[in-house]
Amino acid sequence: MQYEFYKNPLFRVYAEIEDGCLKMKTGGVASPLMKKFLTTNISIFDGEKPANVEADRLIYSTWMPPIPSQGFDRLVRSQMSSMFGKNMPDQVTISITEDCPNNCIHCALPDTKNRAKLAPETVKAVIDQVLEMGTTFVIFDGGEPLTYPGLEALISYVDPDKAITGMFTSGVGMTEERARSLKAAGLYSLTVSFDSAYEEKHDYVRGRKGVFKSAVEAVRNGLTAGLLVNIYVVLSRDNVNELDELYALATKLGVHELSFYEIVPTGRWIDHASEIMTPKDLRKFDNFVSGAREKEGPRIFPIPQIMRTTGCMAGRKWLHITPEGNILPCACVPIPYGNVHRDRIREVWKKIREDPAYNAKCCLMRNPEFREKYLKLLE
Ligand code: SF4
Ligand code: SF4
Repeated sequence: MQYEFYKNPLFRVYAEIEDGCLKMKTGGVASPLMKKFLTTNISIFDGEKPANVEADRLIYSTWMPPIPSQGFDRLVRSQMSSMFGKNMPDQVTISITEDCPNNCIHCALPDTKNRAKLAPETVKAVIDQVLEMGTTFVIFDGGEPLTYPGLEALISYVDPDKAITGMFTSGVGMTEERARSLKAAGLYSLTVSFDSAYEEKHDYVRGRKGVFKSAVEAVRNGLTAGLLVNIYVVLSRDNVNELDELYALATKLGVHELSFYEIVPTGRWIDHASEIMTPKDLRKFDNFVSGAREKEGPRIFPIPQIMRTTGCMAGRKWLHITPEGNILPCACVPIPYGNVHRDRIREVWKKIREDPAYNAKCCLMRNPEFREKYLKLLE
């Protein structure tokens, strides 16, 4: 089976699966020339383990539209435009509610206790605007999005020919029935957070007993309902020694992908800049990722590693909407460039793109100069 990544009358890029991994190939008369031009883009996929292989489509990652699909074609077009300096927000996270039964140590939301929510019509207006701009991944985030009445109606509002939908959850509230109803609404991928492979430690970080059990149940119920399931780990100095255990847990649960992000000093953790991961911790992570490629188990999505090549995505490929309607360059940069209750997102995006800070090579929130200049935070 060949999975078509890109096709025009002169050139095509496709993948075949060999030993469970992608083998990238090109064809067409323009192949020798185009191949040189696109080597970096194509090499990202070559040799990688996909999240899932289906008869008629390839799920490279739970973070990306299936291949082939109209959503993926839109993503390719966006990639091409960005090569010519025109960026669009491929991935938009909408924090629909601040409500959450947990109390995580490192939550990206400031602890405002005002429990703001976005009205369904506001969320729909956001969806309309970002799909029009070219977004290919709409993520419903919180708080805990499962507490939001009418979540399913928002998911089904997203045109599946334009974008896939995802949801970030702690797992609390994800019953079998809820998982089936989310699947029926068209949810593409379910992302469940784990801070540790150990129940007690996870519950400690989440600020409440029972969250680990809920997360495990959410994964199981999501898989039974036929959703793509991704486990999301925020890597920190506290769990970097548990990488093998986290991989074993993800393998045992049978998820499609295990994604890692690196802890960011923001939200409730904003004054912890001195506690971010060390270069030694990151080397440990790199060694783990290389070793895990050879193991039986889910695909790993190592965002800290990928960002070393792509740079920071804030305001370049990502955009975030808070429960108050503020428009941020990413969920962790607490600088409102506008608000969906009064501004058009396209105009706000333009404003962000005019700021050269948002072409950063590394995480802005881990950059002391950015923190001092933009947030007046002196460490
Ligand atoms: S990190 Fe997520 S689960 Fe934890 S308190 Fe914040 S919104 Fe709730
Ligand atoms: S600033 Fe960039 S690297 Fe840091 S959390 Fe936001 S998108 Fe990620």
